[in-house]
Order: sequence, then C-alpha cells, then structure tokens
Amino acid sequence: MTKTIFEKSIKGMTGVTLCEEEISADFLPQQFLRKDTPVLPEVSELEAMRHFKELSDKNFCVESGFYPLGSCTMKYNPKVNEYLASLEGLTNLHPLQSDDDAQGALELMYRLQEALKKITGMDAMTLHGSAGAHGELCGMMIVKHYFKVNNQPQRKKVIIPDSAHGTNPASAGMCGFEIVKVNSNSKGQVDVEHLQTLFDEHKDTIAAIMMTNPNTLGLFEENISEIAKIAHKNGALLYYDGANLNAIMGITTPKKMGFDIVHLNLHKTFSTPHGGGGPGAGPVGVVETLKEFLPVPVIDYNGEKYVRNYDLKNTIGKIKEFQGNFGVLVKAYAYILMKGDRLKQASQDAVLNANYLKEKLKSYYDLPYDCICMHEFVLSGDRQKAKGVHTLEIAKRLMDYKFHPPTVYFPLIVSEAMMIEPTETENKARLDEFADVMIKIAKEVDENPQNILSAPHNAPVKRVDETNAARHLDLRWKPEPKLD
Ligand SMILES: *Cc1c(COP(=O)(O)O)cnc(C)c1O
Repeated sequence: MTKTIFEKSIKGMTGVTLCEEEISADFLPQQFLRKDTPVLPEVSELEAMRHFKELSDKNFCVESGFYPLGSCTMKYNPKVNEYLASLEGLTNLHPLQSDDDAQGALELMYRLQEALKKITGMDAMTLHGSAGAHGELCGMMIVKHYFKVNNQPQRKKVIIPDSAHGTNPASAGMCGFEIVKVNSNSKGQVDVEHLQTLFDEHKDTIAAIMMTNPNTLGLFEENISEIAKIAHKNGALLYYDGANLNAIMGITTPKKMGFDIVHLNLHKTFSTPHGGGGPGAGPVGVVETLKEFLPVPVIDYNGEKYVRNYDLKNTIGKIKEFQGNFGVLVKAYAYILMKGDRLKQASQDAVLNANYLKEKLKSYYDLPYDCICMHEFVLSGDRQKAKGVHTLEIAKRLMDYKFHPPTVYFPLIVSEAMMIEPTETENKARLDEFADVMIKIAKEVDENPQNILSAPHNAPVKRVDETNAARHLDLRWKPEPKLD
C-alpha cells in the first residue's frame, strides 16, 4: 500500500521557504484567523513530486492504453484543444462582462451553435446543458412546457425503450413524467407493434418517445421513420439521446430521422474526456416549432454584433448559470473546425473498428444480436458463466493485461453484458492485441478458471469487497493525535 503523504511526513522537513519575514495578518478579520497550526505534511519538494507521480501512475487513462468503455467512450481528446481552451483571453473573461466586451467568446459560441445545428439538422440550439443528463432534463422541460402552452397538460407520459440509458427514465421522471416502457424485438430494436399498442392504450396522454439511435446495443433502428410517423400522428414529440454521435455524424442527422429534440454530449463525441466527474456540456437542439421554448440566453447575431438574447416567447427560463461550461465549448468548436469534412470519416472509422472487433470475438463469446453494428456492440458472457466465470471476473482479468474493461452489465436486456466500443481513434494493431487477450481469457475459462476468479493480480487495487465499499465507504485518513 502507498503511504499517505501525512505518513511520509518528517518533522522539520520543508519543500520551499516562501518568505523570510512574518506576514502580518492584521488586515484580516480576527474571527477568521486560525488558533492552531494546521496539520500539514512536512516533505521536501522532491518527495512531494514523487508522491503525486506515484499516485498518478496508478491511474488508468486513455494515454495508458485501450479504453473500450462502451457508451461512455473515452476517446483520444487532442491535447491542442486543451491548450486552446486555456488561452488567457478566454479563461480571464468574466461571465458578467458586457456583450461588447465578449464579442470573441460570443462569436465562438454562435459558430458552435451553427455547427451543431448542421451536424444534427436541428433549427435552433442551446449550449447551456452541463452534462448529457442535464441536456435530457432541459429537453424534457421543453416537452412539458410545449404541451402546457398548447393546452394539452394531460400528456404526462413518456415512452422509453427497455434498452435505454438509465438517465433517460431518470430525467423524464425528474421532470414529472410517468415512464411507459416499450419492448425490444428479437433484433434488439424497438418493437413497433408494441409501440402502436401503447399509443392505442394511452392515447393522447403520451408526450414523447425518448430514444437513442443507434441504440445502446449499438444497433441502428431500421424502423425509425415509422416510429417517428406513429409519434407525430399521435401528437407526441420524438426525443433523441445523442450522447454518442460518433456513429452517424456527417452521415445522417436526427432531423432526417424525424426527431424534434436532441441533446449531445460534447464530453463524449467532441473532444472532452468523459468521466472523472466533468466538466461536460450537453447542448440541446430543437426543430423550428420548439425554438421559442429554449432556455435563455441564446446567442444571436443581429447583423452587427453577437448578443445574448433573453427574449424568447415561451422560454423554459434558465437552466444553468451564465453560459454553461465555456471551456468545453471551446474544445468542441476547435475539434469540429479541425475535422471539418472528416467528421464523417470519424464515424466511418468508429463503425468499422466496432464491426472488426465484433467479428473477431463472436465465436468466443455469445453475440445475442448478430448483425452489423454501429459504434459499439454487446457480447454476453453467458457461455463463460455456465462454466463458473462471470462477466465481472472477465473484466477484472482484462486489467491484468493493461486493458480498461468494457462497460459491463449494461444494457440490462443482455445477461452478463459486455458493451465494447473501440472508438475511431484506435489502430488495427491495438484492436488485434485486445482481441487476442479476450480470446486468451475465453480459453482460460476452460483451462484455468481459478486464475480469472482471483484477478486482477497486478493492478494496484485487488478485489474490493463491493458490499462493504458501497455500504461503509471510508475515504478519510485521520491523523494520529500527534504527527511526530
Ligand atoms: C453517457 C450517456 C448519457 C448521460 O450523459 P452524462 O453526461 O453522463 O449525464 C445519456 N445517454 C447515453 C446513451 C449515454 O451514453
């Protein structure tokens, strides 16, 4: 176990000496002054550096290796975009500065709105959402307000497929909607007959259908046009969860599929890492009829300058302070400019990579839906489970080979699910390496399952007691009464 930096402390050791003289604290209000010396570790600068380097070495990141975490893709996010987002002219801007003072930033946001409109096909866009789930909530608030304004308050239900990402029912539920589940068919797609039955049953109480396409199985919904027709014929809206746009961008748009509202995760598809708790950005796009419902302010250009427009007739109001997570917007804009027409190539590569891996692995693991996939595919560990090795253990064993495990046990409609998303940025050699290890593990299940059951063997943290970790989480190190 690594010692905490407090345990490495040696009395009297200093890193840097800041100042020879006592600094007067006279100007501070008395009640805020410390009475005791704080308990701080006493280490040299070199030891402090070694300590934090050692900790960071324990982390697995996309720079350490392959990271096929389906649906929550950790792609390579160009470092130059981090640099651009940290330019002083951008980071030193105060959100309360006037529009005149912030023309550059407003122009950047306006142009990003325009680019995202083009990518999604939508007619208007807000950049406010700070995450995917936040975008969903914003979208659902628009749905709710739209039906209120249009005198249809009885539309209180939202249809969501059983393969949906958990945030979909959660966001609709938070917004006060009742969730109605639509089943998937044997091809892993929305069962259109069941959908029709639901509309027959619930009639004009349905407000919207929330879907993602490709769905969480990585499959393109072939009947999307028909689904859109059914929704619209019944007066409902169609919501698109565009968290993972890397299968379709540049090829088709949610608008073409018939969607009315879409959210994107800039922190998945557009150059900000997902994970680690943010910051992210979940812009929301809408069709013309819903334009007046967007949160304010939206960024407009009045022919002369860029302005924050608060004047939308049916706005749902504010959903986030100031302009959202601006730094994430800068990275997304830089990424889109950098890619240009090659955004399409990114989608094609993502789909090609996923299908390549799927074909390499499908004779070693069960593939419940055996068809061409989009950016990801879902294997089942049922065959291995029958021999006593669960998907969780396969995931742990992968760590021994320095691979981040795929998303496991999701989507819920596949038992022992392993959701694999290689992304567009991996090369063939890396994909082959991963496939070889997956095949090796499949063989190990037959020959030496014990070795898998006790994995990981060389990760910094071995098997944790999952129940205890969840119920009695203890992350706090308490100092001994006296350090020395
Ligand atoms: C990641 C994801 C979300 C949620 O995004 P957050 O930023 O984590 O809130 C929603 N839907 C799908 C399909 C996702 O993959």
